[in-house]
Amino acid sequence: MSTQDQAPYVAACPECDVDLRTETPNEIVEFYRRHYRVTGHDVEFERAQIDAAEDVTSDDLKDVIWELQEQYENGVPIGVVAAVMSDHGSSIGETLDEIHDVRMTGGLYEPQDDYLGAF
Ligand SMILES: [Zn+2]
Repeated sequence: MSTQDQAPYVAACPECDVDLRTETPNEIVEFYRRHYRVTGHDVEFERAQIDAAEDVTSDDLKDVIWELQEQYENGVPIGVVAAVMSDHGSSIGETLDEIHDVRMTGGLYEPQDDYLGAF
């Protein structure tokens, strides 16, 4: 057992034999983007340990960010949002598309790259 086996965030591609274990949720999203760009495959969360997720009652993207942002002073990492939404049945790709759409309508802001807040 290496310490990597304790990684709180794990994602894998169901079509390839590749996965990523990390302590940084946004690295999962970067892994998704890289892998999708090269292969067109959706990688999926296998594990995401997010204490704050226990307090999330909604499965609406904007409400989820609203509920999480109390716990993340400088914006909610996009990887945390994707992980919580994946618990509600949305793929990482679907969540990223939806984030894009809601941002376009002014419902979300990005205090720094790949960190989100809801108005
Ligand atoms: Zn793949």
